[in-house]
Amino acid sequence: MTASVPLSIAPREEQVFPVLTPTQLARVEAHGKRRAVQRGEVLMEAGAQHYPLFVVVAGALEAVRNTCTGEEVATTHRQGQFSGELNLVSGRRSLATIRAIEPGDVIQVERESLLGLLQTDAELSEIFMRAFILRRVALLDRGFGDVVVLGSQFSPRTLQVREFLSRNAHPYTYLDLDTDEVSQESLDRWKISADDVPVVICRGEAVLRNPTNAEIADCIGFNEAVDIDESHIRDVVIVGAGPAGLGAAVYAASEGLDVLMIEANAPGGQAGSSMRIENYLGFPSGITGQELATRAFSQAEKFGAQMIIAKGATRLTCERRPYAIEIDNGTRVMARTVILATGAEYRGLPIENLASFNGAGVYYLATPMEAQMCKGEDVIIVGGGNSAGQAAVYLADKARRVIMLVRSGGLAETMSRYLVRRIEDNPAIEVRTNCQIVALEGAKHLENVRCRNKTDGADTIENIRHVFVMTGAVPATKWLDNCVALDDHGFIKTGPDISPEDLNTARWSFKRQPHLLETSLPGVFAIGDVRGGNIKRVASAVGEGSIAIAFVHQVLRE
Ligand SMILES: Cc1cc2nc3c(=O)[nH]c(=O)nc-3n(C[C@H](O)[C@H](O)[C@H](O)COP(=O)(O)OP(=O)(O)OC[C@H]3O[C@@H](n4cnc5c(N)ncnc54)[C@H](O)[C@@H]3O)c2cc1C
Repeated sequence: MTASVPLSIAPREEQVFPVLTPTQLARVEAHGKRRAVQRGEVLMEAGAQHYPLFVVVAGALEAVRNTCTGEEVATTHRQGQFSGELNLVSGRRSLATIRAIEPGDVIQVERESLLGLLQTDAELSEIFMRAFILRRVALLDRGFGDVVVLGSQFSPRTLQVREFLSRNAHPYTYLDLDTDEVSQESLDRWKISADDVPVVICRGEAVLRNPTNAEIADCIGFNEAVDIDESHIRDVVIVGAGPAGLGAAVYAASEGLDVLMIEANAPGGQAGSSMRIENYLGFPSGITGQELATRAFSQAEKFGAQMIIAKGATRLTCERRPYAIEIDNGTRVMARTVILATGAEYRGLPIENLASFNGAGVYYLATPMEAQMCKGEDVIIVGGGNSAGQAAVYLADKARRVIMLVRSGGLAETMSRYLVRRIEDNPAIEVRTNCQIVALEGAKHLENVRCRNKTDGADTIENIRHVFVMTGAVPATKWLDNCVALDDHGFIKTGPDISPEDLNTARWSFKRQPHLLETSLPGVFAIGDVRGGNIKRVASAVGEGSIAIAFVHQVLRE
């Protein structure tokens, strides 16, 4: 059975499905080849790994996906329109089958040629990239993808799996076994029981029971297009794809360097969890961290950068050059220069049973998924920095009451003035200063929170089921195993902060001093929140990425 469910994006129809002019078609044709198609001909199957872009010169194409109940038509491409979305740029598997529904002519452009076109033709690049991004947004909204997640709102791991897919901007269908009607027939077909959740089904074929993020990434094929070969020495390997790493990747790739990014989780880093970044240049109405990350990621890929997802760097071999970086599964990648952009990891609370409530009442992000869970209820936010402030303002719209617990005497010293004002003006937010959590209680889910007032030592017990921990982060440098000089707090020293003793210890053999942002290892740079003395802002992280690349060019010429 074929259902027609057009993507609901009417206001931007002409940007999502643009019609190329004859002149533009001629420019596309220079990068591809024209061929005839027959009615009913399948040009490309859903799940194909290598596939081209199709531009309709005459006739019509249909994009279709297979679901449990039959086929679903996503859209029809007519004369002057083209197939494809972000996976085509990434080199990831196709989400839909493309089929001719009328006889006609198409221009077929292979992916490598498409990347060439995107890099050289600014007008067509804008048209294609905008359409690809908007199509992906629509697919995410609709849950129109090649992955089904079967989970439970009571399973903390379900929340993590959904966060992983969302932060990688990968569309998926979610079925909650507690609230959605999932037919026994489907459960039997996949041989799934309630004990298996979360279950991830890729392309209707592979069934993963309670998988790790790396297993999900492998199953979807996130890293299939990346060439990992020890004999391939990259100009630059960037570890971490937060704003700093993504900034460096965009500049490196756009300036012709051979660049590989390694990201332990998903692009965006800490910024990816922000519901609204309002102080980043050029976005006067703000932008979600997720959107900024997806755009930056696509921009880097457009210029040819490659990215390994859900696999962390575990070791830097620093004794010889080229440097080797080991990743989770034991593979090594080789690099002439390295950029360390691993940022910072969320700090927990010094409470013994904290981990047992992770995802079951204790959260480190405030995204729509967590907000949905605490709709109409009271929540506590721990922390007095900007991330805590943003979370409070965001959650105040969804929760009944937001209590901010701040250890110090106020917010003024740790939070931007505009956020302090919004909090003061919001009657749903209550700020409790000199307070901290001393105990968490509950059976399967958090039920009560014990808070202590530091000034009088008095304890209060709040009947609250949701706590958001927003207490900052520590630098992600343990994996470096002292390969580079660190400061007393574990941040990486760079440029003028590196002492002569540090250089001696590192056996620095160059006449020159380390460049700005260069570590005590020549050709290894550190940028963003992982660097000692950093500013902890998206703009400064991105800026440091661009500065580091200027020095990478100098080192590559040495
Ligand atoms: C909720 C929130 C809201 C914020 N809002 C704002 C704002 O409005 N404006 C603003 O300017 N700043 C804001 N910030 C601060 C800003 O997000 C950070 O300063 C910025 O993200 C730092 O970027 P980064 O790339 O250096 O590090 P991160 O963002 O921390 O990214 C580091 C990346 O490296 C990866 N990684 C770590 N270890 C490894 C490893 N071994 N191998 C591979 N990958 C690894 C991580 O998974 C992560 O993706 C906010 C922060 C938070 C948490």
